[in-house]
Amino acid sequence: MELRTKINKYYEDINRKNKILEEKRREEIYDKIPEIKEIDSLIKNIALKASMEQIKNPSEERSIEHSEEIYNLKVQKTKLLEKNGFSKNYLDEIYSCEICKDTGITEDGKKCKCLQKLIVEELYDMSSISYVLNKENFDTFDLNVFSDKTYEKFNMSPKENMARILKIAKKYIETFDKDNDLNLLFWGPTGQGKTFLLNCIAKDLMDRDKIVIYQTAYEIVKTLEDRKFRNKGDEDKYNLYFNADLLIVDDLGIELVTSFTNSEIFNIINTRLLRGKKTLISTNLSPKELSNTYTDRVFSRVFQKFVPIRFFGEDLRWQ
Ligand SMILES: [Zn+2]
Repeated sequence: MELRTKINKYYEDINRKNKILEEKRREEIYDKIPEIKEIDSLIKNIALKASMEQIKNPSEERSIEHSEEIYNLKVQKTKLLEKNGFSKNYLDEIYSCEICKDTGITEDGKKCKCLQKLIVEELYDMSSISYVLNKENFDTFDLNVFSDKTYEKFNMSPKENMARILKIAKKYIETFDKDNDLNLLFWGPTGQGKTFLLNCIAKDLMDRDKIVIYQTAYEIVKTLEDRKFRNKGDEDKYNLYFNADLLIVDDLGIELVTSFTNSEIFNIINTRLLRGKKTLISTNLSPKELSNTYTDRVFSRVFQKFVPIRFFGEDLRWQ
């Protein structure tokens, strides 16, 4: 199904569900507080009368009178609701997203957060990621899988190191909305929990309604190449690399380095930096290897804006 069709269907479904819920509430209230049913039919009659008069005498301004009458009836209705233990909004129209009233578009004509989220979910197949995120999050993170044997070179154990990193990650999330230029670069060999931790951060921020895009460097490169060379460009997908609240680039490696992908990926990261948007990167390369690989001055300037966080220890994949 095409994205636009899917999105339309999504909002139609929500609308239908909410209308059913509204109808149920109305029936419930009519049953419990019959006075409200009477008030509603009065309001309906007044409104009908007003519109009939309007048609007969378009020039006359009688609507003010009517609207005052209707207003008073509505106040009465609210009082009745509250007297019977319901919230005063109980009979209002129900929206799953109050910001755009389930249209996907905000008052100033922009894409609403709920629509952006939906697009991300569809474009990046977040349904498959959400399965992973349900397993790999801060609640399931277990410090005990890391060795508490001290590594001379680092003067601490992998477990102590991970406890330290965990604190940084939580701080990162707490200060996410601050314009503090805080970007993290997770580096170290495979199997040290880098991806697991990225998943934890992604899940936490998504739960806070942030637009998070999680991609391996390989997937990003593929999208960029499809767009550039195969004309299979999906502009929405491309633009989101720049506009998402958080872009996670997992597994940035040497094998992907061609001059094209190089400059494109760094264009994305650099643009995000300039816009104050945050990026997380994980890589098996050391900062030194990175600077050797990415010699261009732009790249070194980009990496200066990242706090390197080192992972070490035994390879957890084989335990
Ligand atoms: Zn919305």
